[in-house]
Amino acid sequence: MTVDSQPILDGDRRALARAITLVESTRRDHRAEASALLEAIMPNTGNAIRVGISGAPGVGKSTFIEALGNHVIEQGLKPAVLTVDPSSTISGGSILGDKTRMETLARRPEAFIRPSPSGTTLGGVTRRSRETLLLCEAAGFDVIIVETVGVGQSETRVADMTDMFVLLLQPGAGDQLQGIKRGIMELADLILINQADDGRESLAENSAREYRHALHLLRPRSQNWTVEVATCSARDGQGIDAAWDAVQRRQAALDDSGELASMRAAQSRTWLWTEVQESLLADLREQLGSVDLFAELEDAVADGRLPAKTAADQLLDYFLK
Ligand code: GDP
Repeated sequence: MTVDSQPILDGDRRALARAITLVESTRRDHRAEASALLEAIMPNTGNAIRVGISGAPGVGKSTFIEALGNHVIEQGLKPAVLTVDPSSTISGGSILGDKTRMETLARRPEAFIRPSPSGTTLGGVTRRSRETLLLCEAAGFDVIIVETVGVGQSETRVADMTDMFVLLLQPGAGDQLQGIKRGIMELADLILINQADDGRESLAENSAREYRHALHLLRPRSQNWTVEVATCSARDGQGIDAAWDAVQRRQAALDDSGELASMRAAQSRTWLWTEVQESLLADLREQLGSVDLFAELEDAVADGRLPAKTAADQLLDYFLK
């Protein structure tokens, strides 16, 4: 499977889709080709606004992304969406597919939507989402939206690959606030109380006020941006322009101050070490899988005959020789 970089740079959708399939492949020969391809497109990456979007199932993520995507297209920009395909968990990735999510956006020639099954990945975010994001940038997309379902760990991954993290919440009383993992709140750069419609406008405003108050108690993550909380109705298209405005203002503030560049550099460093760690671990498992010592030590640890640390040291000694 060889993918030439030029058609991707020319904006050929099918070439982009094939390239994403290549980087997602776990086959060893594919990995080598994917690396070569990514190296070739690297100079053409980095020009998009990278936005992570999270929220519990049913909060309105896909409705919001569709509204935001259509809005940025009206601004003359091209959005790419790395989305979660929730139905694939149930259907095993067959027929139900992602057909009904973001239908109008999917039909726009300016947009590109790439679903990942949520069942086989961490909240729809894979080890390769970052590479997919770079490929979309090389293909000329101006805004890359990375969606994840609110499961905790995946948010950290998304925050590690995007410039900005948007958290969608529903209107609700203070006890709802207790339910959100504090860690996720700490990642958010913009909090949107969605579904501020059908008589829930003032409830949404109250929730927004409570979150603003709660945010005062958190240490600010950036010196150049104060986390904003707003209400919106993705269904009615209310507050979408204000949300996009906030995204742009934050991007400008971080860019002007140099924070964007240093944040992306730090993310790339983290990415390098994650790759090293995961590749080493995969190699280790593959090599040790066929070694008797491995099974013996594992049994000994499971039976409580050997401390895990001792066994780990022995395994590493063996591997490094
Ligand atoms: P997701 O699971 O977070 O992607 O949520 P969806 O976008 O699929 O929305 C879940 C349900 O909430 C759907 O029935 C939507 O029509 C509805 N919904 C989404 N946004 C809004 C909104 O702003 N207001 C109202 N009233 N309903 C909404």
